Amino acid sequence: MMIERPDYEARLNADLSAAQQRQESRVPERCDVLVAGAGPAGAFLAAELAKAGASVVLCEKSQFPRHKICGCCLGFAAVSILRDSGASEILNQLPSVPLNRVKFFFGQTPLSFSLPDGRALSRSVLDSALVFYGLQQGVSFYQNTTARLQSVSNDFATIQLSGHDGALNYLKARILVVADGIAGSVVSDFSRFEFEILSHSRIGIGCVMESCDAVEQGTINMYYDARGYLGAVRLEDGRTNLAAAVDAELLKQLGVGGAVDHILSLSPSTERWRSTAAAQHWRGTVALSRKRKHVWGERIFVVGDAGGYLEPFTGEGMSAALASAKLVLPLVLDAVNEWSPPLGHRWQTLHRSRGTSDRFICRVVTSMLHNPRMVSVAARVLQSYPAIWTQLASLVNKPYCGEVKQ
Ligand SMILES: Cc1cc2nc3c(=O)[nH]c(=O)nc-3n(C[C@H](O)[C@H](O)[C@H](O)COP(=O)(O)OP(=O)(O)OC[C@H]3O[C@@H](n4cnc5c(N)ncnc54)[C@H](O)[C@@H]3O)c2cc1C
Repeated sequence: MMIERPDYEARLNADLSAAQQRQESRVPERCDVLVAGAGPAGAFLAAELAKAGASVVLCEKSQFPRHKICGCCLGFAAVSILRDSGASEILNQLPSVPLNRVKFFFGQTPLSFSLPDGRALSRSVLDSALVFYGLQQGVSFYQNTTARLQSVSNDFATIQLSGHDGALNYLKARILVVADGIAGSVVSDFSRFEFEILSHSRIGIGCVMESCDAVEQGTINMYYDARGYLGAVRLEDGRTNLAAAVDAELLKQLGVGGAVDHILSLSPSTERWRSTAAAQHWRGTVALSRKRKHVWGERIFVVGDAGGYLEPFTGEGMSAALASAKLVLPLVLDAVNEWSPPLGHRWQTLHRSRGTSDRFICRVVTSMLHNPRMVSVAARVLQSYPAIWTQLASLVNKPYCGEVKQ
């Protein structure tokens, strides 16, 4: 069944293009901050920096609205960060789907648990809305524009911006924020910023299906196998978003469609729709689990997934990306006034400590997921003692609570 696309997406994109056209079309030669990458971390940080008075250029290599492989579940922590910011007004106008339940399928009987209030919202809409929020704050946005760091001097970083039409511009920014996700190349010419790929890192795959009534609205449906897992949610327009993290070996062995079919086949409730799901046009990511030794350099801060990433089972990537934008904000503003290396060290420490408990939970969950016996034991424990689940869910979904303590 074809679903008529609601007009808010078209309206949002029209607003976005109109606001962009009002800007100068030439990339400026200088700015306070260049933010490279317009995912949640980059778009939100750019907006907040501009709101605080900095001159900000946000560049994005893709054309918006763009699809992004993601489970599209905005956790409670992410919702609370946005609700407390100036973006709340725009976001309130977007008809996202309230999410308050997660169902785990690994066998005959699914296990169902409640979740603190989250939202399901397609990334094309969410990310465009955040960029639009930035435009309202005075951010200069350049899409179809790929950033690459050239050099850093005493006073500024020089970044090459290449347009899809081959045009090259060089911009001098007092501060560069790298927010280019797990596959970005903004600082890839600099060995200091090399990613370390963790062993047994999985590959992310994702697609959007037109509709699937069998997938309950308002619930994150997780289908599990020892070699991968898949999350399905209904989006704001009735379509179903599918996203999975899968062992590279399984993908090699069965291909993408085969791997999807295999994971879903372990749950009898998917019988009606799994072949349709397997036949969709799936896209893939680079290896997911990775980390960077350094999240700062001279006049450079690295934020969001670009700073490192673990498997997405706990669905907290966007919350972590927004939280890192919020945490780094005062440091970037100080650095615009006067760069000093302690600001970078401070960011390194904050980045590490902020993620410690989340990373610990992610790591425990990830290693359990590779072991079906442990999953089955954990499932039984959680079913018998739901209070443990409540504790775990609130730990992972704790609201952002951070001013930066200097
Ligand atoms: C399978 C899967 C499922 C997931 N499910 C969830 C979920 O349900 N909930 C959740 O919260 N998180 C989920 N995540 C994680 C979430 O998608 C990320 O954590 C989040 O998108 C990180 O935001 P970011 O802004 O750091 O990076 P991104 O969203 O990746 O944005 C980076 C941007 O930078 C741009 N870019 C890259 N290189 C350049 C360049 N050189 N110049 C300019 N622009 C550039 C990219 O085009 C992109 O737009 C999932 C991830 C995967 C892989």
